[in-house]
Amino acid sequence: MTDKMKRTVLAACLALFLAVSAAGCGGAGQGGSNAEDTEGRLQIVATVFPCYDFARQAAGDAADVRMLLRPGEEIHSYEPTPADIRSIQNCDLFLYVGGENDEWVEGILENMGEDAPETLVLTEEVETVEEEIIEGMQEERGHDHEHEDGHEHEDGHDHEDGHEHEAEHDHEESHGGDSSEAEHAEADEHVWTSPLNAAQLTDRIAARMEALDPAHAQTYRANADAYIGELLALDAEIEGIVERGTGKPLIFGDRFPLRYFAERYGLRYYAAFPGCSAEAEASAKTIAFLIEKVREEEIPVVFSIEFSNGNIARSICESAGAEHRMFHSCHNVTSREMEAGETYVSLMRANLEGLRAALESGEE
Ligand SMILES: [Zn+2]
Repeated sequence: MTDKMKRTVLAACLALFLAVSAAGCGGAGQGGSNAEDTEGRLQIVATVFPCYDFARQAAGDAADVRMLLRPGEEIHSYEPTPADIRSIQNCDLFLYVGGENDEWVEGILENMGEDAPETLVLTEEVETVEEEIIEGMQEERGHDHEHEDGHEHEDGHDHEDGHEHEAEHDHEESHGGDSSEAEHAEADEHVWTSPLNAAQLTDRIAARMEALDPAHAQTYRANADAYIGELLALDAEIEGIVERGTGKPLIFGDRFPLRYFAERYGLRYYAAFPGCSAEAEASAKTIAFLIEKVREEEIPVVFSIEFSNGNIARSICESAGAEHRMFHSCHNVTSREMEAGETYVSLMRANLEGLRAALESGEE
């Protein structure tokens, strides 16, 4: 073979390699074998920040993890682009939450048929509870099923005692009568908001990565175990704050996507809307109820969640003399947070100061 011929063959190989790489990046929309793209590195695609972060922590430098939701984008209004769909099809493992906001996923995976990637669904990996409507909360228009079930805690006492019992009860219900499940209650999808669940999810994701890419199994396991250690330390720290705290309820002048967080630590709460409500305007009745709660129980802090304008929390604070704080529920991050390398653990840690302030008594 002459040098010239060698160069020609080399160039042809390089062109082919680049074409294959482009397909792997979702550029050319080529189906192909899931495992062969991007130099054989394990390709993971995650819909939202929590599963992106858990996979990224386990991956370290050994696998590629991509998040579909753009930083700063509202999770509840996300629509997949054609490029997103191609990257789902070309990946080895697709992570999504499951539930109300992920209904689009099922259709897409069905259309892919045999080309669909392996999946891991967060809400199938941990125990779920129903979305809960509690006293004072404003329901979404047209959602009145909870009243019939008597889930609205009219007297405000159900919520205070027997948290564990309540969770079990809800769990049974949500898995009991499958035929009526859809119209009766939706599982709350914000499973990641409990750091214990986050640890379990990290473990499950890492296990799948190990099975798909045995060559890097030890790396994934070691990385995942280190992160699980951080998550368990975070969990213990929150437990300590709650134990030393006043036991006063948390007040959210906002949606409440933190049901699993509250269940984990036995925290009471009141909020303007349930977890994934599309409502942004609270009624005068809802706001008056929350103001009254803050006054009655002398609650020092009112929270709003990330990506919210905070208007409801601010007006409650102004009327009742409380401090307004943000609580990050880790749905998604801003571009700045992404660039700064924020993780689920760092975002949750940033919530602790607010949590301490909310549970502190004024006399100390
Ligand atoms: Zn949500």
